[in-house]
Amino acid sequence: MEAVLDSDARSFVPVPEASHFPLYNLPYGIFSPSAGESPRVGVRIGDHVLDLSIIADMGLLEAAGLPHGIFSQPWLNAFMEQPADNRRLVRILIHGLLRETEPTLRDDESLRRRALLPADSVTMHMPVMIRDYTDFYSSREHATNVGIMFRGKEKALMPNWLHMPVGYHGRASSVVVSETDIVRPCGQTVAADGTVPGFGPSRLLDFELEMGFLVAGGNALGDPVSVDDAWDRIFGLVVVNDWSARDIQKWEYQPLGPFNAKNFATSISPWVVTIDALAPFACAAPEQDPEPLPYLREKQRRTFDIDLQVDLTASGQEEALTICRSNFKHLYWTMAQQLAHHTCTGCNLGTGDLLASGTISGPDKGSYGSLLEITWRGTEAIALPSGGKRKFLADGDRVTMSALCEKDGLRLGFGEVTGRVLPARTEAT
Ligand code: MN
Repeated sequence: MEAVLDSDARSFVPVPEASHFPLYNLPYGIFSPSAGESPRVGVRIGDHVLDLSIIADMGLLEAAGLPHGIFSQPWLNAFMEQPADNRRLVRILIHGLLRETEPTLRDDESLRRRALLPADSVTMHMPVMIRDYTDFYSSREHATNVGIMFRGKEKALMPNWLHMPVGYHGRASSVVVSETDIVRPCGQTVAADGTVPGFGPSRLLDFELEMGFLVAGGNALGDPVSVDDAWDRIFGLVVVNDWSARDIQKWEYQPLGPFNAKNFATSISPWVVTIDALAPFACAAPEQDPEPLPYLREKQRRTFDIDLQVDLTASGQEEALTICRSNFKHLYWTMAQQLAHHTCTGCNLGTGDLLASGTISGPDKGSYGSLLEITWRGTEAIALPSGGKRKFLADGDRVTMSALCEKDGLRLGFGEVTGRVLPARTEAT
């Protein structure tokens, strides 16, 4: 996972200072240039999107030796399945093509007009056909906060938590791209003083600030992936909002974990930032005590320094309120450990699997990654900028999450994942 590109190189495409997408980033996504045009693969640079289907058709990526038409598909999966060295070569070729000193695209106005489009003029789609979705619970701070709320300080962490990255199998069909509206779910809930459930819209709708990684290249059924080989199976990362209905969750979760409380929607950011682009931001992961079992012991414990932020724009209000600042590096269990644990039984992962981190809370109050923690189970309401309060999400509220890395003058990010809550559809009740 070495940095292979010159991070100081500049592009002829203007990149605003505050942009998440400098020449070094080059995240992949799926977009349509305009209504009615077919989705295809693009790379983001500054405020523009480079149409790789056109660039590849021109033969400008030929050196990477990829199958014809791989960038004209509506998903990244076929590209993700290519050998890592070929994918890396594509990144190097695109980087070369966009450099300020390279005339091929820079001086060809007609090609530029066709292949380099304003980002605000295109429609973004799901970047990947999500094959399977798994959600972990890897933030010690989050697990401790939730444990204190529901079981008290003494038994905050369950006995298994320090020994394995706890997770559950989620729902792939309801993973949606940023900007997709979220319909408030209905389900069974029990009133605080009640014993039997009623059915209706969730009253305790929440978000979960997470990041997820996308698997590239699977393992055969029966063949575990070792913790030190796990990094080779990670294509890139996205920001994830794992919307959660706390009242439904509270009633249903024992003994098999969340079901209706989580299966109505999970939002992801549209641009997949590759593991190669993140290399300069690698850092040590938290030390683990007790030492995990041998299959979870890493030669080198590695994670990434990624600043995370959550903004809430309450219904009817103009101003967004920042309600959380956290960091990916707080996670106790690394992506490699999650992947090794997931496959230790021989469970087969495949290209397009999404493995999310679980809520990423930090150590202090401003760094909690869910309303459950921020309002401490609804006991401390958030004051909104234009008046009013929130304990959980109201209809019309918008939640926006973003992620940004900064180090030694290099800055790159994920853009954002945003979604607005729509009223429940209660006709069926
Ligand atoms: Mn979650």
